[in-house]
Amino acid sequence: MKAVVLYGPNDFRLEEREIPKPGRGEVLCRVKACAICGSDPKVIAGKWKWTRYPMIPGHEWTGVVEEVGEGVDEFSPGDRVSVEPHKGCGTCFQCATGNYTLCENYGRPEKGHMHIGFTSDGGYAEYCKVPAQCLHPMPPGISFEEGTIITTAGTSLHALERVGIYAGDSVAVYGPGPIGIMAAQIAKALGAGKVIAVGTRGSRLEMAKSLGADHVINSKSEDPVKGILELTDGRGADVGVEASGSPLAAKQLLESVRKNGRIALIGFFSEEVSLNLNRAVVDGIRIVGSRAEGMRACARAMDLLARGLIRGRPLITHQFPLSEFPRALETAVKRLGDAMKVVVKP
Ligand SMILES: [Zn+2]
Ligand SMILES: [Zn+2]
Repeated sequence: MKAVVLYGPNDFRLEEREIPKPGRGEVLCRVKACAICGSDPKVIAGKWKWTRYPMIPGHEWTGVVEEVGEGVDEFSPGDRVSVEPHKGCGTCFQCATGNYTLCENYGRPEKGHMHIGFTSDGGYAEYCKVPAQCLHPMPPGISFEEGTIITTAGTSLHALERVGIYAGDSVAVYGPGPIGIMAAQIAKALGAGKVIAVGTRGSRLEMAKSLGADHVINSKSEDPVKGILELTDGRGADVGVEASGSPLAAKQLLESVRKNGRIALIGFFSEEVSLNLNRAVVDGIRIVGSRAEGMRACARAMDLLARGLIRGRPLITHQFPLSEFPRALETAVKRLGDAMKVVVKP
C-alpha cells in the first residue's frame, strides 16, 4: 500500500508498505479520505513527544472495512466507518471512569494505549488497522469526505457537553476555525439562542455566519467584549467557547461572559496565558477545559450530521490525492486559498 511515513521531525516519505494484518479485536480499513488537522503539522514537525518512528500520521479519516480480526462481530467487510483516534489503556482510573481521552497511560503502547496518527499508524495511507472500539458506523447519507469532520465535531460536542448548553443560551465562540465553527453549529443544534462568532479572518467569519452564527465580530476592527455585551443586553454571554488558542482571545472571552457564566476551553494555547482570574472568582465563572472527542461524542456528532443538524461539507475547501500530500500539507499550514479543511484521498 502507499503511505506517508514519518521517520523523524519533518522527515516524511511517500512509500510502499505492507498492508497490515488485523489481529484480535482489530479491524483493517481501506481509507477513503483523511482530513488534515491543526495538530498534524505538530506531529509531523516532531513536536508530539510520544510519537515513535517510523509512523504513519493522520487521525481524521473515514473508510470501508476490508477485514476484521478474531473476535470482532461489531463490524463486517464493506461497512462504512469513521475513526475515533483515542484508545485508552482501558485499565487506569481515567479509562475505568470513561475518560479515555485523559488516559493515564498516554503514549504507552505496552499498556494498550493508542492515539491513532499521533502514537500509532494513522490514515495517510491506503489502509489502516485499528481496534474495533476506535470505529463508528457511518450512515450512507454521509460522504467519506464529510465524515472526516466527525473527530472535529466530536471534540466540539464533548466540550459543549462538559460546559453544559441550556435552551436559549447565548454562546460566544472565539476562533472560527473548524472546531469553533462546529461548536457554533452544535450549540445551535443543542438549543442555544444567539450564537456570536469572534475572529480575525473575514473568510472564516463569513463561513461561521453561513453555518449558523447569528452575529460575527471581527476582533481586528471591533472590540469583541463590547460587541458581545451589546448583543446580550449588557450582561455578557451565557457560555463562552475558546477555540482559537490565542492568549488575547482567552482574556477577552473571560470578560465576554455574564456573571455565573460558563467557559469551555478547547483550543491548545501556543504559550502560557495570564488571566485576571479574580473575574472568575468574584463573578462565579465556571471554566472547563476539554480535550478531544471523549465519552463517545463522535457517535453523537455523527447522529447530528446524519440528521442534518450540523454540516461538515462546507468546511472542506480543498482535496488532494495522497500522492500530493506535501502540497496538501502546505495548503493547510499556510491556509492557501483560504483553506479551512484540506482532505487527502488515498
Ligand atoms: Zn484532529
Ligand atoms: Zn487508561
